[in-house]
Amino acid sequence: MKSKELLMIIIIIVTPISFSQSVIINQSSNQQEVKNIILLIGDGMGFSHLELGSLVEYGNNNSLFLQSNLLFQQKMSTNEIYGDITDSASSATAMATGYNTRMGKIGVLLNDTPVQTILEKAELMGKKTGIVTTTDFTHATPAAFAAHTSNREHKESIYQQMINQGIEIILAGGQRWISDVNTLINLNYSHITTIDELDTNTDKIFGTFNWNHLEYESDLQYSQDARLTELTVKALNHLSNQENGFFLMIEGGRIDHAGHEGNLTRNALEVIEIDRTAKIIHDWMLSNPNTLFLVVADHETGGLTIGNNHILDDNLPSNFINLEDMRDRRIDRVAQIDATYSSSSHFPWLVPLIGIGEVANSLMSMTCSYSNTNVFDIMNRALTGNIINDCPPPAEILPKPTYQPYSPTDDNKLSLFSPLFLFAILVLSSRLKKRFNLSQL
Ligand SMILES: [Zn+2]
Repeated sequence: MKSKELLMIIIIIVTPISFSQSVIINQSSNQQEVKNIILLIGDGMGFSHLELGSLVEYGNNNSLFLQSNLLFQQKMSTNEIYGDITDSASSATAMATGYNTRMGKIGVLLNDTPVQTILEKAELMGKKTGIVTTTDFTHATPAAFAAHTSNREHKESIYQQMINQGIEIILAGGQRWISDVNTLINLNYSHITTIDELDTNTDKIFGTFNWNHLEYESDLQYSQDARLTELTVKALNHLSNQENGFFLMIEGGRIDHAGHEGNLTRNALEVIEIDRTAKIIHDWMLSNPNTLFLVVADHETGGLTIGNNHILDDNLPSNFINLEDMRDRRIDRVAQIDATYSSSSHFPWLVPLIGIGEVANSLMSMTCSYSNTNVFDIMNRALTGNIINDCPPPAEILPKPTYQPYSPTDDNKLSLFSPLFLFAILVLSSRLKKRFNLSQL
């Protein structure tokens, strides 16, 4: 509680107004506050990634749980405020706050003004909150829900802000940031580092299961490494049965990393794991129906395209019971799939915006031109009980300023006035001088 009040004083919270002007709030009988909100983010997960996962697991497309006809599927744009291809920081900020911002920024506007996140709003409403991710917990996506800073690389500040938000459960990588466990203990956290400790049942839990990011699904050891599915089950159990409900952000964060690497095997297995996670949450919702569950991506990574020349056999991973055998089968099947990456970075394609369950259906029953800022709008409508299904407003896109943005490649050029060039001249002249003196002797 103390930390929340402190945060309120320190941070100038700008109340989101993004859709209030354009929407007539329906005060009729559908007005009912939604108890729980769950946002599952596949970092870098495009539609092709889902197709890849489906081909590996089931031998045909559209067989993943996330591709089921039962779900409410939309597409959304993710461009950052100057219309550039977004990064995870600006896109997660857009989803967490409803405001479009510049790439690299965490929970702040273009001018670095902090804006309230959906997690902070839920905390202030007396809900429990949780963050689960397969990345370092200070990574851009989780950070944008619980911190405010002009640069995603301000890791120490992000760490300090995140531990002081009053979040009830954080399960992630990023052990390297916990330099002093006593800081966590003083904030009433139980700090856990192994999957055996997942049965810990204190009010607040902070789990870091790897030094940096969690291991890839393709590489992890089942007996000791944490997986997205089991961390999600723990978070659901921890946050369930709370009178006021909860907000939970879960991220499959390594789909993006695999996409940057152009590693089809890692991409496929990360997608299959996030699909299993979505199914687990769906099944949990059967007894917790007053829940908004959204599955989204922050952007696509890799420009992945799936071809038609697959050489798929009939031996599906589900034919195996042992986890290692099942994984070996998945890895073999990836090699049978015709797929190519067209980029080693983020790609400007529309990404999935999937709603699951009755609440999502009532909030998303119109086909709209969705943008990532609308993820906030939909969650905010659920939080405030404004069950309206008109289209939320598009993301703000500003004209790009005329100045040349900083380009890291400029560092490598030897300009006439660069310190490196002047240093080179100095060295050369002293060598020539030496040579001249020697030749005089
Ligand atoms: Zn990325």
